Amino acid sequence: MSDCIFCKIVAGQLPSSKVYEDDELLVFHDIHPFARVHLLIIPKVHIVSLAECTPEHERLLGRIMLLAPRLAREHGLDSGFKTLVNTGRGGGQEVFHLHVHVFGGGDPAARV
Ligand code: 5GP
Ligand code: ZN
Repeated sequence: MSDCIFCKIVAGQLPSSKVYEDDELLVFHDIHPFARVHLLIIPKVHIVSLAECTPEHERLLGRIMLLAPRLAREHGLDSGFKTLVNTGRGGGQEVFHLHVHVFGGGDPAARV
């Protein structure tokens, strides 16, 4: 998707502060963090949102979810962390390339 900023980050056409990469996934710091640690886990393949996922994405989604606690631990979020997936305009999604927010180190009672 030529106009997708996260695809551009995957392609190296836009900078990001990467914290993890493998053949299927990329993780980088959110540019506007709302906690001390705020990571975005994305698939390298362009998927618009969780609503566009199909059974063929089951393994990919599982890999994303299993990566979240590992990276949270590696970033010092020992007492816990939050995950968030905004889906569609009504769900507050602003970047239409599937991503899972992983964040913590702020107010644990905050809703986001
Ligand atoms: P959404 O509301 O779609 O779930 O959140 C998109 C997130 O992407 C926001 O938290 C926003 O700060 C982050 N973001 C948007 N553009 C960029 C960018 O170019 N680089 C990085 N690292 N994060 C971005
Ligand atoms: Zn994309």
